[in-house]
Amino acid sequence: MTETTLAGLPASPGVAAGVARLLDVVVDAGAPPVPAAAREAETSRALSALGAAAIALNEIAAELARQGKAADAEIVSTGSLMAADPGLTAAVRAAVTDDGASAGAAILRATDAYAAALAALDDPTLRLRSDDVRSLGRRAARLAAGRANGRRDPNAGAQEDGILVATDLGPADIADLGAGIRAVALAAGGTTAHAAIVARSLGVPMVVAVGEQLLHAVEEGAHLVVDGDAGSVTLAPDPATLRRADTASSARRRAREQTLAESSLAAKTPDGREIRVLANVASAAELDVALPAGADGVGLLRTELAFLDAKDWPTQEQHQWALAPTLARLGGMTATVRLLDFGGDKTPPFLAGIDLRGIGLLLTAPDALASQARALAAVAGEADLRVLLPMVEDPEQVEIVRALFSAVTGVKPVLGAMIETQTAVERVDEIAAVADFLSIGTNDLTHSILSTDRFAPGETAAHHPRVLAAIDTIAHTAGARERLLEVCGEAASNPIAMPLLLGLGVDELSVGAARVGAVRHWVRSLDYARVRELSATAAGLDSAAAVADLVQPTSGLLAEVGDAPAERVNGGVGVVAVGRQA
Ligand code: PEP
Ligand code: MG
Repeated sequence: MTETTLAGLPASPGVAAGVARLLDVVVDAGAPPVPAAAREAETSRALSALGAAAIALNEIAAELARQGKAADAEIVSTGSLMAADPGLTAAVRAAVTDDGASAGAAILRATDAYAAALAALDDPTLRLRSDDVRSLGRRAARLAAGRANGRRDPNAGAQEDGILVATDLGPADIADLGAGIRAVALAAGGTTAHAAIVARSLGVPMVVAVGEQLLHAVEEGAHLVVDGDAGSVTLAPDPATLRRADTASSARRRAREQTLAESSLAAKTPDGREIRVLANVASAAELDVALPAGADGVGLLRTELAFLDAKDWPTQEQHQWALAPTLARLGGMTATVRLLDFGGDKTPPFLAGIDLRGIGLLLTAPDALASQARALAAVAGEADLRVLLPMVEDPEQVEIVRALFSAVTGVKPVLGAMIETQTAVERVDEIAAVADFLSIGTNDLTHSILSTDRFAPGETAAHHPRVLAAIDTIAHTAGARERLLEVCGEAASNPIAMPLLLGLGVDELSVGAARVGAVRHWVRSLDYARVRELSATAAGLDSAAAVADLVQPTSGLLAEVGDAPAERVNGGVGVVAVGRQA
C-alpha cells in the first residue's frame, strides 16, 4: 500500500507514529436472534455488563480525582450514574426480550438511542452528556463481548506504540488510554467535545472528524502517523514520514520536560524587564497544562465556547456549571473572565442572522448579562477576578456594564476593555478613561486594521507595521492613563510579534495553555533594550515581510519550547488564528 493521508480536524496537538488499535466492538448485524429460552440469561449478561462498566468508570474517576483532576473525574463519574438510569436499563431489556438482540447489540442500541435523545435537548449541559452515554455503551459492549473489565489491556501496545482508532470517544476512554497509546484518531467527534479537552490536558495528540473512511481504511495493527497539529492521519507512512514523526515527538517530549523544569523561573529579561504570562483557556482541563508550566493565572477565559450550540441565552446556573471548575482552581491567582463574545463565527443557533458582536450584542439582552454577572459573583471564590468586555467600541458600554454588574451583584467589578477594532483604537483614550485595564485582541484587531477577513483562508500578519502602529497608540494611552495592558491574541505567542509586543511595553501576555512555558522561556532570552529599539523601527517599515526580516535575527533565537501551539489553527509564522478554539 502506498502512503495515503486522510484529513480531519486537529483536536489535540502533537505528532505520533504507531500501530492501529481499533476500539469499537463490531456487532454482527446478520447474527440470528437469541433463542427465546436464552433471552433471560442474555438480559442478565447485558445488565451485568452495564453494571460492571459503571464500576470501571468509577475506578477511573477515582484515579483522576487522586491525580487532582477533579473536573475530569466529575465528567467520568457522571457516565457511571447513567448506567443505572431506569429508562436505559428498560431499553436494554426490551431489545433482548422483544427482538432477541445479543447483549452487546442491545447495549449499543439502547445507549445510542439515549444519546440521540440527549443530543436533541435544548439544555447544552445535557447535550454534552450524549458523548458520555455512547462511551458507557461502548465500554459495556466490550464487557459483554468478554473483554476483561471493559478497560484496555494495560500491556496492549507496550512493545509497539498504539494509535487508538474509533468512531468517537467519551472522556473516560481518553483518561483510560493505557500506557501504550500515543495518539487518537476518530472518524467522528468535535474539537470542543469533552474528549478533546481531556486529550489536550493529557498531552495526547488527537485528530477528529476524519470520516467513516478512517474505519474502512485502517486495520488492526496497521502503521499510522497521527498529526494533531495539522489534523491528519497518514496510512502506510513511508520511512521519511516515520522519521519526521519520531523527531517531532522526541523534540516535544524534551521540550515539555524543559518547560516543567523552568516553571518557577520569573518571566524576566536579563536586563530586568519582568512581565506576566497568563493562559487563554475555555475549560478547567487546560489549567493542567498551563499551571505546571508557570502561568500567572488566566488572561482570557472564553466563556462563549461552552454555549455555541445554545438555543437561548445561558442561565445563571448554566454559567455557574461551566465556570465553577476553572475558578475553583485559581484561588489567589488572576482569573480574567470574558463576558459572552457571541457573533461572527461564534453565533449560536438562537442568534442566527444577527449582525452584532461581543459586548454590543450582549447589551441588547441585559437579563443575559445580569445572569452572567451573578454567576461570576457566585463562583469567583478566592480567585482574583477581572471581567473582560469583548469588542468594546464605545466607553458607554463599559459604564453600562459597570453599573449593571454592581447593581445585580453588589460587587464593584474590575473591568477590562478589549481593543479589537479600528474604531476602538480611535477611541482608546475615552475607553481607557473608564476601564480598569485594556486587553488587545490581536486576532480581530489585525483584520480590522488591514481590512481583511479573519475567516478567509490565508495568513494575515499581526506584525504588519500598521497593526504595530495601532498597538503603539494603545500602549501609549495605557501608559498615560496608568492602565495595565495585556495582549491576549495569537500574536502574544508568535515568535515574530511577541518580541515587538514586549518592546512596545505590554505588561502581560496571555497565550494558549500549551504555549505558556515557551513564552516565559522566550522572555528570559530577550534583551529589553534591544526589542524596544526593534519595535520603534518596525512600526516605521512598510510591510509585514520587512518587519519579519528585521526581527528574525532576534526571534530566530527563540527556542521551540513546550507543546506546539494549542490554538494555532492555520499555522505558520505571524499567523493570526482563525476559527474557534477550545
Ligand atoms: C482576539 O481577537 O485576539 C481574541 C483574543 O479574541 P477571540 O480570538 O476569541 O476573538
Ligand atoms: Mg476577538
